[in-house]
Amino acid sequence: MIRAVFFDLDDTLIDTSKLAENARKNAIENMIRHGLPVDFGIAYHELLELINEYGSNFPHHFDYLLRRLDLPYEPKWVAAGVIGYHNTKIAYLKTVKGVRRTLLRLKEMGLQLGVITDGDPVKQWEKILRTGIDDYFEAVLISDSVGVKKPHRKIFEKALEMFDLKPHEAAVVGDRLYSDVYGAKRVGMTAIWFKYGKYANRELDYLEYADFTVRDLEDVVEIIRGLNSEEGSDKEVPAH
Ligand SMILES: [Mg+2]
Repeated sequence: MIRAVFFDLDDTLIDTSKLAENARKNAIENMIRHGLPVDFGIAYHELLELINEYGSNFPHHFDYLLRRLDLPYEPKWVAAGVIGYHNTKIAYLKTVKGVRRTLLRLKEMGLQLGVITDGDPVKQWEKILRTGIDDYFEAVLISDSVGVKKPHRKIFEKALEMFDLKPHEAAVVGDRLYSDVYGAKRVGMTAIWFKYGKYANRELDYLEYADFTVRDLEDVVEIIRGLNSEEGSDKEVPAH
């Protein structure tokens, strides 16, 4: 019997990849509009490399971008980048199609819901609050506050502990076969792969850990309903 469903945040509940790409492009465009003397393609490429090297939560992307482009530090350009980035984030931050319907139907079925995510805790909460999905969840677990990253088992065990559940009573839904699916399966939870976004064709070595694959988030509802009704009947129905 599944009693709780835990969702990953980025590219599962919230369309983060597309947003980040648009925000970065608009940041560069705004810097150029305010005098950055560099071709868009070159500046954007350097920014992506920088993010790749320093991580997406590095707080000095635009300062370092100027260094990498051999330009003097010009606070006006940095400000233009920050504005371009944040305006895009505020305008385009949105949930993945079907999120609210899915969460609502699961709640109506009496399930407890949680979020298990990596990333900077303030930024993750900002996404949850801005999209207004916080009320659906009994718990939001951010791996950073446990000192690990998915797929470390500690974050999944913590989730079970918070809801006082056994692994077979919980399901995890996420877009990453490695962090979400493999992580959940390793502690014995039901793992549902959301084949979506930039990881839709990556980490396929971990596909064997997925109990189910969905392309539409709303299909999670039927999967959970199926799992819970199978158990109530005498019929033996395979899980796939
Ligand atoms: Mg994700």
